[in-house]
Amino acid sequence: MATMSRSELAASLSRLPKVDQVLAEPSLAESGWRRLVCKRLVTDALAELRARVREGERVEIPDAVGLAARVRSELDGWARPRPRPVLNATGVLLHTNLGRAPLSAAARQAMVDAAGTCDLEVVLHDGSRGSRFTAIGPLLRAVMQVEDAHVVNNNAAALLLACTVLGPPGGVVLSVGQMVEIGDGFRVATMAAAGGCRVVSVGSTNRTHPRDYEAALLGEAPGFEGMKASAILWAHQSNFAQSGFVREVGLPKLAELARAHGVPLIADLGSGSLGPGLPEREPTIVEYVEQGADLVLCSGDKLMGGPQAGIIAGRRELVHRCRRHPMARALRPDKTALAALYATFAAHAREGRPALPLHQRVAAELGSLRTRAEALASALGWSVDEVVVPSTATIGGGSLPGDTMPSVALRVVGGKASRTARCLRLGEPAVMGRIEDDAVLLDLRTVDPADDAQLLAALRALGELG
Ligand SMILES: *Cc1c(COP(=O)(O)O)cnc(C)c1O
Repeated sequence: MATMSRSELAASLSRLPKVDQVLAEPSLAESGWRRLVCKRLVTDALAELRARVREGERVEIPDAVGLAARVRSELDGWARPRPRPVLNATGVLLHTNLGRAPLSAAARQAMVDAAGTCDLEVVLHDGSRGSRFTAIGPLLRAVMQVEDAHVVNNNAAALLLACTVLGPPGGVVLSVGQMVEIGDGFRVATMAAAGGCRVVSVGSTNRTHPRDYEAALLGEAPGFEGMKASAILWAHQSNFAQSGFVREVGLPKLAELARAHGVPLIADLGSGSLGPGLPEREPTIVEYVEQGADLVLCSGDKLMGGPQAGIIAGRRELVHRCRRHPMARALRPDKTALAALYATFAAHAREGRPALPLHQRVAAELGSLRTRAEALASALGWSVDEVVVPSTATIGGGSLPGDTMPSVALRVVGGKASRTARCLRLGEPAVMGRIEDDAVLLDLRTVDPADDAQLLAALRALGELG
């Protein structure tokens, strides 16, 4: 790039329109968007242009009309709700960046119904003040088979609250092998400590023994001498698995140690499976409780197939202490999340496979996925033999590493894969696939069959773009 001379630079800068001139343009002045809002965007746009000019970039300098039009189109974009829907064709069922579990129709409706005024904290019976957790309590207790349960904003909040309440004074003891980082820099040990709780790390990366925990409970853990740990924290390894010369102490043994030392055992299950309709490799919450966890912590939007939420469940007295802590107020779920969680648990309370999208997609027959893929290919006039390919889907969301399911994908041929993927993301509706062997694969296991018509429309639009 040829560098600009000082005078060229000054000339470019002087050609930038003035803020008031841009604001006076009818496209902004009569737009219906507030003047102070327009002004902010115009100022920011000018500042960005100025910076680029100063960097020596040869920038097309817009006039007042042009800049006003640009700002107007940005403003008009705000009239459309965000986040906007995306068809998940990635093959990852619980995709954190795509909002994890898709909610059931009942859960969505419950959110809409609760969105107005609702009986969140009122007892309609006598008009007295109620608690937002009263209605969902019996449902949680019965489905999870626990004495009591409390709901917070997400599982990170559950971990934070449980450790802040039960950790002091001696802290929680946690195996180094369970100091997991889940995604976006979220680390179990960091969250456990975020409320001031000391985390006594014991063992080594690959091996931790009962005697390591015992030492911490006696105040003799190396580096943490003199303070007896006040609780044991067990954390699900979530998104990774270890093999080889490995040892972690199981929950039953930890429960024994906890009893012997009179401290609670907190199990961060991460996902929390409720059973039917999911791969059986992952123990259910009920099984974890039976293994002796005093408190279990789990996410609402992973294997539960519900909204973002965190659940603290187990012994009545411990749950009660968490619920009474001042921090609980700062972590409480809103009415729409509670409504969706209630509908989700009502589905889990029924016999058989729960009527939830996650569970239905896990259970989808390969044959039906193939039929859908063939129908799409035919409708597009694509060669079935060429574009309907076997695929592998996963559950994702930090649950069950390596647990894959056979699936079927549409292979979008022609054009550069990265460009095709971008067109699909920016299309209407937006579609996210994955790139494999320089082609975009659209995995049908993660797409709601009811959205196939929309997927077809997106692919047709792609064809028209060429
Ligand atoms: C996913 C996960 C969390 C965090 O759960 P969020 O609901 O995303 O806050 C915490 N601990 C473990 C072990 C997890 O897998």
